[in-house]
Formats: sequence, C-alpha cells, structure tokens
Amino acid sequence: MASEDIPFDKRFDLAPETVDEVAPGVRRVLANNPSPFTFKGTLSYIVGRGKVAIIDPGPLDDTHIAALLDAVRGETVTHVFVTHTHRDHSPAVPKIKAATGALVLAQGPHRAARPLHVGEAPRLDASNDTEFHPDRALADGEIVSGAGWTIEAVATPGHTANHMAYALKEAALIFSGDHVMAWSTPVVAPPDGAMSDYMASLHKLAGRSEATYLPGHGGPVRDAPRFVAHYIRHRQGREASILHRLAKGEADIPTLVRAIYIGLDPRLVRAAGLSVLAHLEDLCARGLVATDGEPSIEGRFRLA
Ligand SMILES: [Zn+2]
Repeated sequence: MASEDIPFDKRFDLAPETVDEVAPGVRRVLANNPSPFTFKGTLSYIVGRGKVAIIDPGPLDDTHIAALLDAVRGETVTHVFVTHTHRDHSPAVPKIKAATGALVLAQGPHRAARPLHVGEAPRLDASNDTEFHPDRALADGEIVSGAGWTIEAVATPGHTANHMAYALKEAALIFSGDHVMAWSTPVVAPPDGAMSDYMASLHKLAGRSEATYLPGHGGPVRDAPRFVAHYIRHRQGREASILHRLAKGEADIPTLVRAIYIGLDPRLVRAAGLSVLAHLEDLCARGLVATDGEPSIEGRFRLA
C-alpha cells in the first residue's frame, strides 16, 4: 500500500521476458503480469551458472515459462525454490519441473495462518495456489548447497503462513519474496496472512546483516536493515492510527479504512480492509481491542 513514511524506490525499467544480471551470479526474468498487487509483474531469479537454481518460477503463463527456460538453455536447473504459494509465484512450478527435473523446495503447501471461523471463507482464495506441493519441505535455517551457491531458508510467515525468504551466502543478499519490497508494503490478509507473524518476521530480518534484498516484485531493496526498520515503524504507525480512531468511539472496518488510508487507490480498498482486520486480530489477541465474537471483516471494534 502506498505510504509516505517509507522511502520507497519505484524505479524499475526491466522489459518483460528479458534476462539481466541484477547481482553477481544472479539473473532475473520479469513475467508480464502487472497489477496493483504485482507492480510491473513477478520476478523469477536464476542463481549460479551452469548448474543453477530458480527462485519463484512465477505464474502459469506459457510465454514466461518459455522465456525462463530459454534463459537457462544449455544449463542444468538442479533446484527450484518457492517463496510462497500465491498464484503469481508458484503455478509455473510443474512445467519447469517437467522440463528440467529440478528438485522443488519450499516451506510447504498453502495453508491459512489460523483455522477458519464458522462461516468464514478464505477471502483471497482466488490468489492461492492450493495445488502446490514441494518435493521437500524446508525448515527455518536449513542450508541448501548447489554448484557455486549456498542458500539458507529464512522462514518469514505473515504475508502467507508458508512464506520463506532465501539468503544467498556468496552474495550476502536475501531473496525476500513478497515479505519486503522496495516499491510497496505487501498485503497481510487474514486468514492466509497474520499481522503478529508478519511483524515477528520483520524483526527477524532487521537483526540480519544482508544489505540487499531481491524481492518478488520491483527493483532491489538497498540498505535493507534500515528499510526494514521503516517497514516496522510504518505498521506501528498504522496500529497507532487504529487505536487513535477507536479512542473516539466504536467503529467498523470501512470507517477505519476511510480514517486511516488517505487517497487510497479504489482497487485497493478491499485489501486495505483486510490489512486493518489483520491489525485488529492482533490487537484483540493482545487484549487492547474488543469485538463481539471472533474479529471479522463485518465486525465492530472498540477499545478494550
Ligand atoms: Zn504474494
């Protein structure tokens, strides 16, 4: 979501389905799936030379799959890593695996961050790739080595419960998926996402030394620990705005969205409502806010 308190960098001029080297030993290919949620499109990364790994094969788009396979022509794809199971990141996996025989690694299949409440549907279900299954599930901190590269799995739940970032040891950088991006903050939408997990994952990255992140959308994040600190302060600011509004009286989520998001792109109103719900779930769990029954998108909220 757009916000003025984070030093966003929206420069990004890569053409779809072309290959460029974004960091030493790291190439990227942009899928042609731009949207308010994907910016210019999803980035697939290629790590190494000769025997390579692919991070996030991307959407089920034959042009993108062909471009990605073209980019590694004459090389062997030994591993595929998936950051999370949204439909712009993982549905190309079966075709890339069939063409290359690569081992597919991820935290696990898609799952919600918490059990569904009675009558509740997974709200962004159309965006989930529920078909995805890794060949091998990765644990937090697990190291995977290939030909000339070493990758550490960094569990970063929040945007999705199974979100994983990947640290490339040789280049001291992190493939941050949708967890941290230079152009925007990600949507954190219950029940697939959870604000408490997301904040814990930000604090986890803030304690790491890697200065550069390569996200799933948009250009590199530079000065990453400082940028992550801005992300944390931004969410703390959102939380403070919600509490400030509730101090004036009980409110529903549309009222809170209008009070908090000024000049919001109309296409993002629903996602903003879900982000506010994510904050309210967290605030209710911490005993700061109350509602009747489980926190829900239709609920009314008040200070506890
Ligand atoms: Zn995503």
